[in-house]
Amino acid sequence: MTFKDLGLDDNIVRSVTELGFETPSEIQEKAIPQLLTSDTDLVGLAQTGTGKTAAFGLPMIQKIDPTYRAIQGLILCPTRELCLQITKELTAYSKHSDGVRVTAVYGGASISDQIRDIKKGANIIVGTPGRTIDLMQRKVLKFDTVSTVVLDEADEMLNMGFKEDINEILEGTPAFKRTWLFSATMPREVERIASNYMTDPFKVTV
Ligand code: AMP
Repeated sequence: MTFKDLGLDDNIVRSVTELGFETPSEIQEKAIPQLLTSDTDLVGLAQTGTGKTAAFGLPMIQKIDPTYRAIQGLILCPTRELCLQITKELTAYSKHSDGVRVTAVYGGASISDQIRDIKKGANIIVGTPGRTIDLMQRKVLKFDTVSTVVLDEADEMLNMGFKEDINEILEGTPAFKRTWLFSATMPREVERIASNYMTDPFKVTV
């Protein structure tokens, strides 16, 4: 199996090839064709190191319309480190996808720099819940144009007490969208989020 076989566009295949990725990982093989060919919600039970970032990042990039200058993808994750890591990966995956702009928003750093970045025209936002809420309340971030939401490390976000923030952020997104949730474990709280916000999700376990 190659990245091309998964249904990815040549510009994305070129970016992953340049990064030295030779074959898709198991979660990529299972999730990417499904995410590209349907508008399904997805629950992925996967640990870090499985290649889950590319499993959601590559289809999200392919679904971005670069001529539409609006936020189309939102990725929520628990920590600043993960936020920066995801942003770095998606920026590399979209190197040859003209017009795709990925912006990170996280706490403990200058909010005015992040506001400036957002205003340059982001179409994918990678955020930690607290800072994301802050920017929504300041009316800098609006998610009414979002078509794909990823909840990454959902169990960790709930452990860290972000449940209310996540609910509030999701309330600001359109009802009709794709939601892709990834978690290393599936406690009842995560299942509740899945059942509240997702419709008949496709399930992938690795
Ligand atoms: P993740 O599980 O998303 O944190 O990814 C773990 C690491 O594996 C990251 O550094 C990725 O850049 C890398 N990676 C992801 N997919 C592949 C692949 N198919 N082949 C080689 N490396 C990969």
